[in-house]
Amino acid sequence: MSDAGNAAEIRDVVIAGSGVAGLSAAVYAARADLEPLVLEGPEPGGQLTLTTDVENFLGFPEGVGGMELIQRGKEQAKRFGAEFAHGTVENATLEDRPFELTLTNGEVVRTGALIVATGASARWVGAENEDELMGYGLSTCATCDGAFHRGDDVLVIGGGDSAMEEALFLTKFAESVTVVHRRDELRASEVMADRALEHDDIQFRWNTELLEIHGSQETGVTGATLLSHPDGRPKEKRDDGNDVEREEVDVGGIFYGVGHVPNTDFLEDTPVELSDSGHLETLEGMTTETTVAGVFGAGDVMDPDYRQAITSAGTGSMAALDAEEWLDKRPDEATQELLAEASD
Ligand code: NAP
Repeated sequence: MSDAGNAAEIRDVVIAGSGVAGLSAAVYAARADLEPLVLEGPEPGGQLTLTTDVENFLGFPEGVGGMELIQRGKEQAKRFGAEFAHGTVENATLEDRPFELTLTNGEVVRTGALIVATGASARWVGAENEDELMGYGLSTCATCDGAFHRGDDVLVIGGGDSAMEEALFLTKFAESVTVVHRRDELRASEVMADRALEHDDIQFRWNTELLEIHGSQETGVTGATLLSHPDGRPKEKRDDGNDVEREEVDVGGIFYGVGHVPNTDFLEDTPVELSDSGHLETLEGMTTETTVAGVFGAGDVMDPDYRQAITSAGTGSMAALDAEEWLDKRPDEATQELLAEASD
């Protein structure tokens, strides 16, 4: 028996991903006696495990830690019979049922229905040297790496809620925190933006982008080259004869907070339709069904707009209900197919 179960076994439902969407799907599917298998993926627990307090999840007036919310969700799903396994789907064969999922460790899992709740991962900005320095003073997670930057001057790149959250968190450790944003207006929600803008220890560099990161794996990050232009998005302007301003700054850490990209690489060669941004396309109307019958989407992987913990939990529950209904209908579907074959 392998970690993800017996290869000959056909599961009713497999849930790829163990963030809030996957866990919510697991609670619902387990309560429907579908004994779901949750493949935890490369970042078990998903994005909430990297966040501090979640203040807008209904039912927690004082807020709740992201990690705590995830741990509680996992316990809840297990209590109803969900099974968890380490595993990341590398390839999916979705043309025929049962679907076949090949994991990165070579194991094969077969299932009648698949809920894709693989979430999204941090986007990188494309600055020079970021490949070399990621993990060496360059980070996408202030809550994970902030404590390494006691007394440092640090930059936070981005203008959304993630960047504001990172900047606020980093004020606990860093000597100075500077938010570098490519436009002159934040995208963050008003409450988060006000908190950061009113914070004495956070400075803002507007209309500025990160061009290059200085340092090495031995020294860590030592500085950065910033590009500014009064009309914003200076990187786009630098090759057009525009008067961009270049500045070198000394910093000991750089944090990216520039959004996320959906984790759908394993679906690229399957009939599941993806949008231009790589998100899972769902059918029209209030449903989590995808273009492949029996494959459902939940959470950030199918949601380019809302991307909240609570909406992910909502679409997770919808995916489990949709999968349950679809599995219930399948005996009829099989009978219809047999009747059709018999009349040929
Ligand atoms: P986001 O809202 O998409 O913001 C990404 C930011 O990064 C934008 O300001 C964007 O600039 C900038 N950006 C993107 N690509 C860039 C690049 N290549 N170079 C420089 N800047 C770049 O992403 P997010 O902040 O991760 O938030 C995602 C969702 O999660 C939102 O719905 C948010 O409300 C939610 N969230 C909530 C909380 C909370 O409530 N505590 C915390 C985190 C996230 P432009 O503005 O110019 O596009």
